[in-house]
Amino acid sequence: KLLLEVKDLTAVIAESKQEILKGVNLTVYEGEIHAVMGKNGSGKSTFAKVLVGHPDYEVTGGSMVFKGENLLEMEPEDRSVAGLFMSFQSPVEIPGVSNIDFLNMAYNARRRKLGLPELGPIEFYAYIFPKLDLVNMKTDFLNRNVNEGFSGGEKKRNEILQLAVLGADMSILDEIDSGLDVDALRDVAKAVNSLLTPKNSVLMITHYLRLLEFIKPSYIHVMEDGKIVKTGDINIAKILEKEGYKGISDA
Ligand code: ADP
Ligand code: MG
Ligand code: MG
Repeated sequence: KLLLEVKDLTAVIAESKQEILKGVNLTVYEGEIHAVMGKNGSGKSTFAKVLVGHPDYEVTGGSMVFKGENLLEMEPEDRSVAGLFMSFQSPVEIPGVSNIDFLNMAYNARRRKLGLPELGPIEFYAYIFPKLDLVNMKTDFLNRNVNEGFSGGEKKRNEILQLAVLGADMSILDEIDSGLDVDALRDVAKAVNSLLTPKNSVLMITHYLRLLEFIKPSYIHVMEDGKIVKTGDINIAKILEKEGYKGISDA
């Protein structure tokens, strides 16, 4: 079943009106894992942020439909309630708010929107506790302020914990592998894999083959200058690893 359909999507930076996305096309079905690769500055993060409705960008053309709903008409919060999740390349720190309170608030906001009863702190703790194992996190991690002083690996694990708490039909993971050592990468990938079902999908942005060896993509896309210029299988990542982006242009 069709999950996301993006057609000829163009977008500019809201402030400067500089065009960054120049006609992106992408179709994602339930159960598929898509990877987006591409040189720095090609527009990968912008694409991800435009999908979730980041205010830094304005869509100037094209369409994006998620589960039959027009994303362009939805506020970021409604996109999230509809089942779209994004982990940011640089997660923000929230001083003075503990991780568990933040997650509880986010989870309750979602439940309110869905017309479900909110979970109090004790119920929420019971809900989140089994998920800590998934990302290999100790409980004291929940009492620390959101992302404050977290190592790179902890931030990434925290993003996946958020995903596990909120659930999503489509998770957009922007460089979830950046700054991770191999063990942390394996943990994060294991957690992502354990959240996969035949109904949901993942769009992951990465520069590295090693992530794709842990989370096996159905398709790999290469983005260049605000467009997807090539789509293929794991061989694309293998060529990239060996020959860089020049190898892709020649192939
Ligand atoms: P990638 O994730 O592929 O490395 P980005 O989507 O982050 O690329 O950026 C694409 C281009 O758009 C870059 O040249 C970047 O500097 C520019 N850009 C993206 N967002 C902004 C912004 N908010 N303000 C100014 N420039 C931006
Ligand atoms: Mg980059
Ligand atoms: Mg980026």
